[in-house]
Amino acid sequence: MNHTSITFEQKVSEITGSSGSLSANDSEQLCTDFNISIEALMIRLLPIAAAYSRAAISNFKVGAVVCGALENEKGYSSLYLGSNIEYDNLSSSLHAEQSAVSNAWLDGQSGIKSIAVSAAPCGHCRQFLYELSGTKPLFILIPLATATDLFKIKEDGENSYAFAELTALLPAAFGPLDLGCTELMMESNLDQKELVLTKSSDDKLINLALEAATLSYAPYSSNFAGCAFEVASGELYSGRYAENAAFNPSLSPFTAVLSKTILSQGGSERDFDYKDIKRVVLVESPSQVTQKQVTTNLLSVCNDRVQLEYHQTVASH
Ligand SMILES: [Zn+2]
Repeated sequence: MNHTSITFEQKVSEITGSSGSLSANDSEQLCTDFNISIEALMIRLLPIAAAYSRAAISNFKVGAVVCGALENEKGYSSLYLGSNIEYDNLSSSLHAEQSAVSNAWLDGQSGIKSIAVSAAPCGHCRQFLYELSGTKPLFILIPLATATDLFKIKEDGENSYAFAELTALLPAAFGPLDLGCTELMMESNLDQKELVLTKSSDDKLINLALEAATLSYAPYSSNFAGCAFEVASGELYSGRYAENAAFNPSLSPFTAVLSKTILSQGGSERDFDYKDIKRVVLVESPSQVTQKQVTTNLLSVCNDRVQLEYHQTVASH
């Protein structure tokens, strides 16, 4: 097939439209069509990922692309886009790296091989990423123009890029093992917890939030939590709580589902306006930590016409 008349951006937007991701076979096809490596493909996808950004305060649009650990027969992996989100009136935000990781995790990936970012990740994201790599190598890829001397260069003409292992960017790291935790963040996909609502329900959205809670990652507090949206077009989305050994780079379930919704509905406010959020359900297991207050705050700055629907699970033994 002759692809010369189709631009890279057109081809990608056809594929990523409703999920912000590319299957392993789509990645393989694009690499073949445009004669590039998957790493070069990830770098080329960064501006497309950044287009989903909602950064009204800083206007600093960041894109990230995660390469999932699962491979097809030819060794290609699914790729997941992510972008940053800032909230009006709140000193809380989502970084693109967290968005892309959450996107991959929600799709069933239990680990990642590498992540491409518009520029070297900030300290917050290095700590967040450490929660899902442990001692396994995790490669950070960035465009050549943003490389520092901590990065090595992969020379490949116009498809050159810079790369470094996470541990080279985060020496003497503090992580899960320091708190006696051996399960890494995305491995919760391999070990679904059994949670039961205090009042069972046949409401689809409540059960979607419950399922997200059962797959969430909260090894330090046991505050297993999931959040789900129903949007104006009728689609339902969910996001999971991802706790961090250092706590502050934790990802709230509300922010996770908001990111997933933006990536699925389209980047611009024409595609998805926060007013399109019609219902929000939070399900969590009772513990010393609760997501209720932070979820209420985040929802109120996004769409103050929607009331949070809150449900707890039965306390575990
Ligand atoms: Zn960051």
